[in-house]
Amino acid sequence: MSLSDAKRRVSELKAQIFRHNHLYYVLDEPEITDAEYDLLMRELIELEQAYPELVTADSPTQRVGGEVASGFAKVEHEIPMLSLSNAYNPQELREFDRRVRELAGEPVQYVCELKIDGLAVSLRYENGLLVRGATRGDGEVGEDITANIRTIRTVPLQLPEPLNLEVRGEAYMPKRAFLRLNAEREAVGEPLFANPRNAAAGSLRQLNPKIAAQRGLSVFVYALADTDGTRLTRHSECLEWMASLGFPVNANRKVCDTIDEAIAFVEEWAEKRRDLPYATDGMVIKVDSLAAQERLGFTAKSPRWAIAYKYAAEQAETKLLDIVLSVGRTGAVTPTAVFEPVQLAGTTVSRASLHNEDYIRQKDIRVGDTIIVQKAGDIIPEVVRSLHEQRTGEEKPFSMPEVCPQCGEPLVRLPDEAAWRCVNSSCPALIRESLIHFVSRDAMNIEGLGEQWIAQLLDHGLVRNAADLYRLRKDDLLTLDRMGEKLASNLLSSIAASKENSLERLLFGLGIRHVGEKAAKTLARELKDMDALMRSSVEELMQLRDIGPKMAESIVAYFATPAAQQLVVDLRALGVNMTYLGGTWESGGAQTSAFAGRTFVLTGTLSTMDRKLASEWVEKLGGKVTGSVSKQTDVVVAGEKAGSKLTKAEQLRDSGQKPELEIWDEAMFLDALKSAGVAY
Ligand code: NAD
Repeated sequence: MSLSDAKRRVSELKAQIFRHNHLYYVLDEPEITDAEYDLLMRELIELEQAYPELVTADSPTQRVGGEVASGFAKVEHEIPMLSLSNAYNPQELREFDRRVRELAGEPVQYVCELKIDGLAVSLRYENGLLVRGATRGDGEVGEDITANIRTIRTVPLQLPEPLNLEVRGEAYMPKRAFLRLNAEREAVGEPLFANPRNAAAGSLRQLNPKIAAQRGLSVFVYALADTDGTRLTRHSECLEWMASLGFPVNANRKVCDTIDEAIAFVEEWAEKRRDLPYATDGMVIKVDSLAAQERLGFTAKSPRWAIAYKYAAEQAETKLLDIVLSVGRTGAVTPTAVFEPVQLAGTTVSRASLHNEDYIRQKDIRVGDTIIVQKAGDIIPEVVRSLHEQRTGEEKPFSMPEVCPQCGEPLVRLPDEAAWRCVNSSCPALIRESLIHFVSRDAMNIEGLGEQWIAQLLDHGLVRNAADLYRLRKDDLLTLDRMGEKLASNLLSSIAASKENSLERLLFGLGIRHVGEKAAKTLARELKDMDALMRSSVEELMQLRDIGPKMAESIVAYFATPAAQQLVVDLRALGVNMTYLGGTWESGGAQTSAFAGRTFVLTGTLSTMDRKLASEWVEKLGGKVTGSVSKQTDVVVAGEKAGSKLTKAEQLRDSGQKPELEIWDEAMFLDALKSAGVAY
């Protein structure tokens, strides 16, 4: 390649990498997979090695990739937060070992640690108290996310000793929390996160810490940034010391005497890591001796004493058989790739979401193509690319139909949205999905009325909307396939019982865009009945806690439609309750929504008040306090040394038995008291 060609390619690569860095680090919406990104970066590194005169100080090979998003205060890192250089095969690890031994001038031991796929955070403690949490940003300057970090339960707010120190670690979202979050987002028509890393980063960059608090984030600490004052001489000792101070340190690590031992450990975890409850994308190998680390030093971007071995995402080649379209409850038309089944990371997969039309265009994916598939973050199947060189000419390019595949009405694409939507409120797909949502457990909770029955009720023309469910008679039900007397009676009583639900269930069940379960609860609690809600303006709704402009506009637009107004009239006439049935305590007009009508369990020790006083406050504010955790529990306030009650609460929440169960630490409890007008 001539110098001028190399120059052109280098500047193209830089521009592409800058763009992808921004999408990935700031917007948390990557367009390409990590492997594709790594290829661009490798090409740039190789070109810069061949033509060192083309290396500039601002090259992405010389700098940590992140930037600071607006909206947060900036934090300067006294000790920079760097990236890691990468290795992709054992050979590259051996080269790393050779360089290290040359520079260190002595035999070295290595510590191998799993590379957790999240985002780097820095935690600063003064006098043993957590005073600041920050993101890595560009390595020199990060974002102050202290309020969000405080909501992570595994981050100690106080250390057992009054120490001044700074630790570094990886904040991550466990796989289960990620799947739950995406399911919730799907239910309210919000775009899904591509993988747990993006979800963790998006959650930590929420300006509202209450949202971050609900995301089930966690942290593993992997470095002591400031070792002054300690007499530790090895990285492995730092890890042990941090664990003894109550920091979560990943236990799957090993001190190795040779690089071969380290390579064996890397290989041992290649498969095993998939069974972990959190995503990992590699193994980090670090020189154990801190003195040797100091001698080796840093490049501008990464330490010379550490390297990240990146596990290749397990990929498979297969044939794309079809692209099918499904219409969701919000009308969004989603294309899904259907391919010949392949084994990936332990399961057989044959489908992967293609998200939207732009995604298919960018990747130029055609039916009939040979495609490469993998699981993002080891969970979500995705199409990495299609092998254009294997085309025969028979492949069919995809184009989004102009009309809904279910009802034939024209599709629309709203400004700023990637999805095409069917906006025909009588589209059968929309009706089916809306009814499934209406009866679901977290909405009207009509037991026994599953998807199969809904499909049959629609096919038989027995229901057209939610109100029709309350018009069903036994004779109607008995016309369905495999429906018996007993089942029909049970279904009718479940339907009848749902009439008594409190307003929030109905509100969530209506499926108003952007209104999730929590917002429905807030609306019901604050406004008390359906009429008050329907009369509220956008401005009035925005006065309520947690209700932003997007949601407020969506609510007003929904109730402005004649169909919604008629549905409310019909449901009311059929006896469906339209009022909030929760607690009613009011303190001189102050909003007490975090307590009223909710059942609390207090566990562990609070540092600011004893449990008796805390219980009195909860009760004064309209909540109920009970001694044990059950499905009736709404909030568990967990102080220091919380034990089995907390574990049980986490189980109930994470197993999906009670996903809305909230777990508060002391700071959140005090915050809630403060919002309810109690200064403590
Ligand atoms: P990195 O994520 O590859 O490695 C460095 C980071 O690893 C550290 O900052 C730390 O956060 C983390 N880490 C996890 N466990 C650790 C442990 N035990 N010890 C030390 N560190 C640990 O580097 P990076 O600079 O943050 O990101 C580069 C990578 O991000 C790329 O290789 C690519 O995979 C991905 N990326 C993808 C896109 C895209 O568009 N898809 C864009 C930018 C970056």
